[in-house]
Amino acid sequence: MNTIKHVFFDLDNTLWDFRKNAKLALEKLYIKYDVEKKYNFTFDQFHPYYHDSNEGLWALIRDKKITKEELRARRFKEAFDNLGINNDELAAIFEDEYMETITNYNEVVDGAMELLEYLKPKYKLHIITNGFIEVSKRKIETSDLNGYFDTVTYADEIKILKPDPRIYTLAIQKAKANVEESIYIGDDWIADALGAKEFGMSSIFFDRLDDNFSQEGIATITHLDEVKKYL
Ligand SMILES: [Mg+2]
Repeated sequence: MNTIKHVFFDLDNTLWDFRKNAKLALEKLYIKYDVEKKYNFTFDQFHPYYHDSNEGLWALIRDKKITKEELRARRFKEAFDNLGINNDELAAIFEDEYMETITNYNEVVDGAMELLEYLKPKYKLHIITNGFIEVSKRKIETSDLNGYFDTVTYADEIKILKPDPRIYTLAIQKAKANVEESIYIGDDWIADALGAKEFGMSSIFFDRLDDNFSQEGIATITHLDEVKKYL
């Protein structure tokens, strides 16, 4: 892979530790609204329900079965309902305040800064994200990730999400790159690993949740350190 000149990254859970920051933000809201005292469920009991609801709904968005607005209307309601807290007003308050609260937390994925420092002198670095545009911008600009990337492509710019090849085409154009000299690194098997490969780009799957998906032609790593084996 020594012809590579451009390294494209996914943002959420590949570089910016969405799961960790989300958990910190939710715990803050959980305490703020006194949920444990009112309903007798601890935050640690609540959190897996939110995780399942949110991940399941994001998979439906990726598969074009629901919109982001539907996700926002449903994720907290489903998490609370499934746990046994039937309070739609509380769910609406959590959704309202969650996006604002999460931007107070800016933890990056373990090994991200070391990797970016290692890559920066040798390659042009870029991001392609399916996340909400304003939120994603803030995550990059207010975290340690700021200053490393030549281009950022937001799926929201053209209302098309990864793994649709049109988002990869847009990213390549913005980067003034060729697909042959580009590589993509991301943590979602379908949107990132398969999406990039089907577009014709070299692809590294960052298997953070030990999903163990694999396919010929896609490299798999479990820690960002391992990217150095390929670049
Ligand atoms: Mg991701």
